Amino acid sequence: MPVGTFSALRPDITVGRQHTLAEQIVVLRLGHRIPRDLRVTTHVCLTARAFGADGLILADVVDTALEKTILDVCKRFGGSFWIRMGEPWRQAVKDWKSKGGEIAHLTAYGIPLPEAMEAINASPRPKLVVVGAEKVPGEVFEAANWNVAVTNQPISEVSALAMFLDRYFEGRQFSKEFENAQLRIIPSAHGKKVVNLTEPGG
Ligand code: SAM
Repeated sequence: MPVGTFSALRPDITVGRQHTLAEQIVVLRLGHRIPRDLRVTTHVCLTARAFGADGLILADVVDTALEKTILDVCKRFGGSFWIRMGEPWRQAVKDWKSKGGEIAHLTAYGIPLPEAMEAINASPRPKLVVVGAEKVPGEVFEAANWNVAVTNQPISEVSALAMFLDRYFEGRQFSKEFENAQLRIIPSAHGKKVVNLTEPGG
């Protein structure tokens, strides 16, 4: 059974570790269009996972192709990253706030990342990082504790998220361990070295 997933179409497969909210940093992906955004949202998820986020909520829609790809990566490369789909974004934001969490919305219109990060890091509360696809409703700008700009130029949400998480974790993602992995990539100056941990001696 894949770890930590909830599909609105398959509520029977809800599994995974119970998070204490205090340790969480979760990404909320808004405005995902099926099938148009599959590739970019996949990259948002992979970046969130690799850079240390606990999980991702895909707002309003269920995309089972996306879910399958991410769960497959999680299964092969390990870790406890989870993905949930189909929750209305207003509900996700409301729930997050009602549990004491804070919201950082990534937008070219916000305040510069280095400035915002000082305040974000000064607060120990769990963070929901909102990234858009199509136009983001004005209500999100209002709901956010911080509207954060990774430069005030339009850029890819994948690069915005990577920059945000890199500053948030201050590079700790480079030594992050992914438990229960089947495959581990061994850093190598040339070529590709991958160990299959499910094989004897792996
Ligand atoms: N066309 C959309 C609009 O008018 O709002 C935005 C598309 S943009 C590629 C998608 C997402 O990337 C945005 O919702 C935002 O989360 C993120 N993004 C784009 N530029 C950004 C920037 N400079 N800083 C932070 N986030 C940014």
